[in-house]
Amino acid sequence: MHITIPDGAARLLRRLNERGYEAYVVGGCVRDALLGRTPHDWDICTGALPEEVKAALPGNTVHDTGIQHGTVLVMEGGEGYEITTFRVDGDYSDHRRPDSVSFVRSLGEDLARRDFTINAMAYHPETGLVDLFGGVEDLKAGRIRCVGDPASRIEEDALRILRALRFAARFSFSIEEETGRVLHGKRAQLDYVARERVFSELKGFLVGDGVCALLLEYRDVFARIIPELAEMFDFLQHNPHHCYDVWTHTAHAVGHAVPELPVRLTMLLHDAGKPRRFTRDERGIGHFFGHPEVSAQMADGILRRLRSDNRLRETVVRLVESHDWALPETERAGRRFLARLGEEGARWSLQVHRADILAQHPATQAEKLARLDRAEALIGGLLTRQVCFRKRDLAVGGRDLIALGFSGRAVGRCLDRLFDLVVDGDCPNERDALLREAEKVRAESTESLLPSD
Ligand code: ATP
Ligand code: MG
Repeated sequence: MHITIPDGAARLLRRLNERGYEAYVVGGCVRDALLGRTPHDWDICTGALPEEVKAALPGNTVHDTGIQHGTVLVMEGGEGYEITTFRVDGDYSDHRRPDSVSFVRSLGEDLARRDFTINAMAYHPETGLVDLFGGVEDLKAGRIRCVGDPASRIEEDALRILRALRFAARFSFSIEEETGRVLHGKRAQLDYVARERVFSELKGFLVGDGVCALLLEYRDVFARIIPELAEMFDFLQHNPHHCYDVWTHTAHAVGHAVPELPVRLTMLLHDAGKPRRFTRDERGIGHFFGHPEVSAQMADGILRRLRSDNRLRETVVRLVESHDWALPETERAGRRFLARLGEEGARWSLQVHRADILAQHPATQAEKLARLDRAEALIGGLLTRQVCFRKRDLAVGGRDLIALGFSGRAVGRCLDRLFDLVVDGDCPNERDALLREAEKVRAESTESLLPSD
């Protein structure tokens, strides 16, 4: 089996070989190349120790990024390549990180410590593919399978539970039966894994293609890392807009969403508050008044716990909170929508609406989608016309108002007023028109200061 590897990687392999060391490209890049996907980086493994790698590559810039684990980053032809010494992991006494790593001289041992068969292959341009665990067969079958005994491999490092789901989602692969049983059975071990690592895998999972089925089949695993999700399981909606229980709707909504992290994460959490807000009217129809706010609060707590960065957390909380807003139908509403969410937020919010609709009762979709299409066209039009929807795009600023005699907090208040007028389309965003409006505001406020008799 032939793989085309970058010239830089080939040169590094050759130079290590010339010094008498084995060296291969390995892991994700081999898997991706065999799948016909473009690898995002080419990792190299070698029998040389880090110091030996450096000595063998005297002309290259080398960064000691992970030298204690045997990894150095080598620059070659303008690209960085991670070169890692063959190693085996020591004990995983805490189910998270190996207590130590030991360097070994054989490729076979290095491949055996890797997580899944499809990730445990190495390649050399002259000697070809090294596939000791049936990785090619599993790639062909579209299957995630642990290298070795699944139970002990997951015991060693429970993060592999989420890695299995991430790779299954990314490639729309199935999970081999025994491996799958262990993912369920050992899910409690995820409690020992650092939240950052958990969240990083969850994020990778969410943007995959095959998420819907996996969210349904492995819901117990997801509830182990986000216990609030369990509230949605089997929660019937008793509402004509819906054909699924809350969790099934959620899984479909994630699956229908564009594969952008903020949108996918929003879909995962958008209805989390529904069970807490459930009521039924006299006709027996279910309602969830106020659930977006509750979901938003829950999303905030969940994302803090998972150590999300603030920007992502704030974006998702806002999108969850706004997921049920009426879509803008008029220019004025469109400008308001943009002013409240910002350009990026507005685009994402429209994607959120779309994913939500596509996971609702099929009979109700056509009309909702038509309204969404109109809203999208409206927002798109406003953006191409570059209408003002941010205060900083206003044609006048604080300085202009001060020149008119405003001072202190009156400056900000007047700017707010002018911004409202522009967003509502009641005043063009032009300097002269706005200054005239500001004059009016000033006249009003002076009047109100005069004695009222
Ligand atoms: P991606 O395209 O997402 O980077 P990848 O396969 O390169 O996929 P990495 O997390 O970059 O995944 O890891 C590189 C390689 O290291 C994997 O292919 C696998 O062989 C090995 N590996 C990474 N994490 C683990 C782990 N937790 N347990 C065992 N092997 C692992
Ligand atoms: Mg990688």
